[in-house]
Amino acid sequence: MALSGAIWIGGILSGLRLTEYPLTLRPPGGLAKPMGIWELSAPDQSFSLRRSPFARRFRISRLPFSGGIGRFLLFPVLFSASRDREKEFSYFLRQIGETIAMSLLTKAPRGTQDALPADTGKWRHIEKTALETAALRGFREIRIPTFEHTELFSRGVGDTTDVVQKEMYTFEDKGGRSITLRPEGTAGVVRSVIENSLLAGPLPLRVCYLVSCFRYEKPQAGRLREFHQFGAEMFGSASPAADVELISMAADLFRILGIDGLTLKLNSIGCPTCRKEYHAALKAYFSAHTEELCGTCMTRLEKNPMRILDCKSPICSEIAAKAPVITDYLCDECREHFEGVKGMLTDLGQPFVVDPTIVRGLDYYTKTVFEFVCDRIGAQGTVCGGGRYDGLVAQLGGPETPALGFAMGLERLLLTMDACNCPFPEDKKCDLYIAPLGAAAARKASTLAEELRREGFSVETDVMGRSLKAQMKYADKLGASMTLVLGEDELARNCANLKNMSTGETREVSLGADLVSAIYDVSISDVIGKISDSFEGADLKSLFGMEL
Ligand SMILES: [Zn+2]
Ligand SMILES: [Zn+2]
Repeated sequence: MALSGAIWIGGILSGLRLTEYPLTLRPPGGLAKPMGIWELSAPDQSFSLRRSPFARRFRISRLPFSGGIGRFLLFPVLFSASRDREKEFSYFLRQIGETIAMSLLTKAPRGTQDALPADTGKWRHIEKTALETAALRGFREIRIPTFEHTELFSRGVGDTTDVVQKEMYTFEDKGGRSITLRPEGTAGVVRSVIENSLLAGPLPLRVCYLVSCFRYEKPQAGRLREFHQFGAEMFGSASPAADVELISMAADLFRILGIDGLTLKLNSIGCPTCRKEYHAALKAYFSAHTEELCGTCMTRLEKNPMRILDCKSPICSEIAAKAPVITDYLCDECREHFEGVKGMLTDLGQPFVVDPTIVRGLDYYTKTVFEFVCDRIGAQGTVCGGGRYDGLVAQLGGPETPALGFAMGLERLLLTMDACNCPFPEDKKCDLYIAPLGAAAARKASTLAEELRREGFSVETDVMGRSLKAQMKYADKLGASMTLVLGEDELARNCANLKNMSTGETREVSLGADLVSAIYDVSISDVIGKISDSFEGADLKSLFGMEL
């Protein structure tokens, strides 16, 4: 049997202590165990090491490394039906195991991503802009732990949500506590706000945060298992003005970052009062489709039928598309609040679309929910999502407090910014490269470099023992604005030639205050040059009222 063949290979592999590696064994039936970094297929279902010919064809595909594949592909084919090949076979498997082990050392876990030096400037730009935009509205940064008690999320986010039911990274720590890596930021922030009595201070309380979150999902563009969010939360105000302030803060951040073409989708999902009636209507509607719903939604039907609306199964979502909409069931208070939000957004000139299918995937939302979506990054185009959660603070043990917030995924924001060709500030380049020749000059170069760094210049000098030619090549690759060649001759005279790399101009400077002011001169003319470029020939002299 296909499956037993595959399990049999699994047995061999685990015998070789390979079970700790995330192998996928994919038998011909297409039955796959997830988490795999490779597939091991065994098309000959009846092979068995001890008895019959065990592999006529034995293929290993999707190896996460390139070396040795040929050998692995060919090796088993060489095996004959002979029984005394057992040793060779286990040697072969051991080699596979060794190779997997080595490849895991240099391969990040699925769904994670490095931010490389070439890109971290983009991240810093987004994070800095977000915090500054929030600060203009009185939001101060809060930092919360990466993990919390599992209970916080099952209560806070809701135990019928996809996030809690399917996606959390939960584990028992060495003290036997159930711990969960945060799948979102709000629950932890609310916990911290209650625990530290922040609600006893002046209200509204406005906080914002930059966090990494963890969800076990199928990785795709802009959706990772470890992802990053910028979020903002406001506590204490029940007024539609608070909803609008938060929404326009997100919109303003997008504007500052240079993102255009986003659509604001808006909905109200009511309060517990109006939701009672709505739940009954949903239950009645979905009960007529019980046979088609997925297993998870069957249990949701009793506990929380609204969660069926965001089930990712295609059949469930097709059924959900025709379900009754909440906006038809809003109570007077919720309706009035929703009208207030819409009215104020209109006053602000902020366009929006009312979309009754937006319910957000988390249980804590009440009244206003919203999303900013971008049509340029594929179907998963939600860049920011949020809403009101008036019941959450009390539900987690705090005082009855209306509250609301939003979070935006930074990976998706980055994708959107790239899609919109948004500008990013340039990384700071090397101002000066000092090229010493000989040991004495090298010593002088390193003290000189240190002095100039204290003046705020970015300075590099040789730490590789390179020749002058190799050093100049390196300085060129760095994009250094200036170079200073320091030979014995120069050292003796306490001066050297400073070269402006963009103009090719050189001038002799003494190695003291003269050097500092010369570097200032060059970097200032560099900056002015850049400004002139960006003003595209505007008359800078008259602009600054000065002689340049
Ligand atoms: Zn209501
Ligand atoms: Zn479902």
